[in-house]
Amino acid sequence: MAEFTMELNDEQKEVRDWLHGFAADVIRPAAAEWDEREETPWPVIQEAAKVGIYSLDFYAQQYFDATGLGIPMTMEELFWGDAGIALSIVGTGLAAVGVLANGTEEQIGTWIPQMYGDANDVKVAAFCSSEPDAGSDVASMRTRAVYDEAKDEWVINGTKTWATNGGIANVHVVVAVVDPELGSKGHASFIVPPNTPGLSQGQKFKKHGIRASHTAEVILDNVRVPGSCLLGGKEKLDERLARARERAKKGGERVKNAAMATFEASRPAVGAMAVGTARAAYEVALDYAKTREQFGRPIIDNQGVAFQLADMRTQIDAARLLVWRASWMAINGKQFTAAEGSMSKLFASETAKKVTAQAIQILGGNGYTREYPVERMHRDAAIYTIFEGTSEIQRLVIARTLSGMPIR
Ligand SMILES: Cc1cc2nc3c(=O)[nH]c(=O)nc-3n(C[C@H](O)[C@H](O)[C@H](O)COP(=O)(O)OP(=O)(O)OC[C@H]3O[C@@H](n4cnc5c(N)ncnc54)[C@H](O)[C@@H]3O)c2cc1C
Repeated sequence: MAEFTMELNDEQKEVRDWLHGFAADVIRPAAAEWDEREETPWPVIQEAAKVGIYSLDFYAQQYFDATGLGIPMTMEELFWGDAGIALSIVGTGLAAVGVLANGTEEQIGTWIPQMYGDANDVKVAAFCSSEPDAGSDVASMRTRAVYDEAKDEWVINGTKTWATNGGIANVHVVVAVVDPELGSKGHASFIVPPNTPGLSQGQKFKKHGIRASHTAEVILDNVRVPGSCLLGGKEKLDERLARARERAKKGGERVKNAAMATFEASRPAVGAMAVGTARAAYEVALDYAKTREQFGRPIIDNQGVAFQLADMRTQIDAARLLVWRASWMAINGKQFTAAEGSMSKLFASETAKKVTAQAIQILGGNGYTREYPVERMHRDAAIYTIFEGTSEIQRLVIARTLSGMPIR
């Protein structure tokens, strides 16, 4: 087990500096343009692919870093550059993780390369779980997958919403109900290969922030995929469903939910994105406060401004520590006995919202305009308390974990 450390090692520092260079030189200068265009920044993704930042290999390397700090460090730097563009770069990872977590080796080898494409022809992937009536309440999912045994095909029907890269993805990973009696235990994930008939993009959302990241509905109308597209395979699914039915018969005894453990391990990554956005806004505000003069002195000379900056930095550092702790726990297989993953996401995302608002205040009128980046960062920051489980859901998870009670 890697010792917990507060310091990145030399190799990590090198990677961090390289990522920071890309964020500062390529992402940040493009941020305002793609925010206004509200389109996927394909040229930036391609640039990332060329230098090796957009590939499974790179993220796998960071993920398997024994200290656990590879992914949080990567997310913080890229999202420091710009949240919308960074999400366009890392969004494919959500779908890739879905395949890595549940797929067979063959599925991983077949589909993940098609999710990323290559530097000359970059592709993206989408992970489609949320539905109009199933957001926080995942068990209400309605998208149905029915097995057609004669053809060894699954037939999928339903409407997904809020899918990052939905409709523009080369590969879609779709979660669907295979046994409605079993609630969330009756779900399974499917690959929908490129150009499959019946899959189409619905509404593309015009958003408050992260506008360079494409978010849309995905319509599945009699989508037929081969049996081999069921992640993990039919045998494993049948075994899992049989176990769930057995448990349900015994009166629904509470079992450790593997999905919950996965969320606890993935939520710190979202916390790290929030830390990146918060740090970016804090740095702009600190520079501004040191140079902007009113009443014949820099505004930071006023405690009212300086103390805000002190609080901002304290909260950002606290958020990073929570993220690093949870990431270290995840890579070392520690039990999240206090929902430490959810804690890190909750605190970091609320911090990003608060800090970016304070940054606008410190920049005064300038902060409120699109001439300066902090208003964009504030719009972007609002997503962190919503996706991958809202702040209320994080509190619910933490409270349930701490108390062992079915708090509603
Ligand atoms: C930009 C963006 C990108 C996204 N990307 C993806 C993606 O790639 N794939 C995907 O599958 N999904 C994605 N999502 C969906 C996202 O995960 C959901 O929006 C989120 O889970 C919340 O669901 P909801 O929007 O339906 O809100 P709701 O669940 O309807 O919640 C509305 C409000 O009620 C509160 N609430 C709900 N239940 C409770 C409760 N029990 N106790 C207290 N408060 C409660 C919530 O906290 C929230 O404040 C994305 C969303 C956005 C906005």
